Amino acid sequence: MSEHEKSSNVVWHNATVTRERRETQNGHRGGLFWFTGLSGAGKSTLAHSVEEALYQKGFRTFVLDGDNVRHGLCADLSFSDEDRKENIRRIGHMSMLYVEAGIIVLTAFISPFRADRDNVRKIGGSDFHEIYCRCSLETCEDRDVKGLYKRARAGEIPDFTGISSPYEEPEYADLTIDTESRLENCTSEVFEYISASTKNGG
Ligand code: ADP
Repeated sequence: MSEHEKSSNVVWHNATVTRERRETQNGHRGGLFWFTGLSGAGKSTLAHSVEEALYQKGFRTFVLDGDNVRHGLCADLSFSDEDRKENIRRIGHMSMLYVEAGIIVLTAFISPFRADRDNVRKIGGSDFHEIYCRCSLETCEDRDVKGLYKRARAGEIPDFTGISSPYEEPEYADLTIDTESRLENCTSEVFEYISASTKNGG
């Protein structure tokens, strides 16, 4: 049974408090800012740092990050290609509910497959912005924030991106950030991009 068939009796309820009204109240538009890159590239660090800067300026934001989603909503999924695809599909739809609520969503998922990111682009349309956190595998491995590269090299973690599973670089990222440079510079670059793309009437 297809997803459509399973949902055939569901009718979307039209809210009177619309996205547009929420955005007027917030003073900015919602949007989905999708950080992608290798493990340790700096997606979480940068997303939270940008969120802090946005919050201080009064923007309504939320960060969705690999670990918090995999503990709950996606706890049933592994790191196989098929489950990674489902993981990203769920996150894409969930993120767009936040965007409907007028929120600026920043997501920090490796999301290694181009096709999966392109699916989210289809779900999100012009609200979707792909931000590539570009960092060499060598630097990520040197950082080894969670000790995962060491374990992956020892063969203890199957399907580890960059080691035993591929990472497909974005071809048309909306923004590419060199996360080997200073965090402060990366933060202000992304902050500028987000504030410009979420201007009301923009
Ligand atoms: P990811 O979420 O991509 O797995 P993390 O944010 O967990 O990566 O870890 C990135 C590490 O790199 C952190 O220890 C962070 O302090 C460090 N780092 C150094 N420079 C930067 C930068 N420019 N942007 C983001 N993180 C950086």
